[in-house]
Amino acid sequence: MQPTGELHIGNYLGALANFVELARTHDCLFCVVDQHALTADHDPATLHAKTLEVAIGYLAAGIDPARSIVFVQSDVPEHTELAWYLATVTQFGELGRMTQFKDKSDTQTQNVNAALFTYPVLMAADILLYKATLVPVGEDQVQHLELARDVAHRFNTRFGEVFPLPKPRLSASARIMGTDGLRKMSKSIGNHIGMFDDESVVAAKLKHAFTDPQRQRRTDPGRPEICNMYRIHTAVTGTDALATVETGCRRAAIGCGDCKKILADSLSRRLAPIRERARELRARPVYVREVLADGASRARALARKTLGEVREHLGLARHASELAE
Ligand code: ADP
Repeated sequence: MQPTGELHIGNYLGALANFVELARTHDCLFCVVDQHALTADHDPATLHAKTLEVAIGYLAAGIDPARSIVFVQSDVPEHTELAWYLATVTQFGELGRMTQFKDKSDTQTQNVNAALFTYPVLMAADILLYKATLVPVGEDQVQHLELARDVAHRFNTRFGEVFPLPKPRLSASARIMGTDGLRKMSKSIGNHIGMFDDESVVAAKLKHAFTDPQRQRRTDPGRPEICNMYRIHTAVTGTDALATVETGCRRAAIGCGDCKKILADSLSRRLAPIRERARELRARPVYVREVLADGASRARALARKTLGEVREHLGLARHASELAE
């Protein structure tokens, strides 16, 4: 995840909850991609704090740093080196087709920088450097992941087998819409509910959140299948309450206000313990830095190994080290 702003429930339900689940059964690496955050206008003075905040989000959500490797991208410079090599097997036309590039270049019109265009190559490097096979992402990242697969395949075919082909692992809530009901929930749009928002803020944001436009009055029956709020309910509300919401909405037995109140309670039950752990971790910044330093050194050991293979396959000589031998 990028440290571009506060984490929101789209990040949590679409990706982070999936990270935690995957980490129980697989060897995982979780990275805070601070170098990706440089592709948008950013404030150097706050980037560091935001990076720590995302790491705290990972740990608070339940990632165990003894089992998984948790680190910051810029602590492992091998990511950018591999990105350069992968860029040589990535076509300009492929990058031009990335919808996220098109969307972002439409929003940040004054800063359509080259790194915004090559961002998916760095993302491919983030994945391939560790020979990852599964990547837990939201739906918006699937196209980038397909590109990583294509690039890996092309490298293997041209220079010899180095990379397994990574697959996306989507959660059931791979696309959470924003409170505006129009676009995906995103911190850069400001249509989000923060993962760490307190209960009154969540309630206020839900109050104004978009629902089924057909439910104008309390007596109008609704359509849960197209409702933004119901989609979030399916991720966080228990079976019985969910059934009450669904049938209640269809028969106009409950109003949008009641539905949102149940949703606020469900979100609170799920997020309050995470919020509490985050509060504890914020009070222990040295511990968080130690986790990240340890993660970076474990990640670097793996990264150096892959990069050694890549350099060899590419025919890059190591003049300096050969002279020293
Ligand atoms: P943002 O789009 O808010 O800037 P990131 O690009 O840092 O967030 O995404 C971090 C992770 O969260 C990615 O795996 C992404 O697919 C997932 N994600 C982001 N927004 C959503 C959403 N609205 N619904 C589901 N998953 C999401």
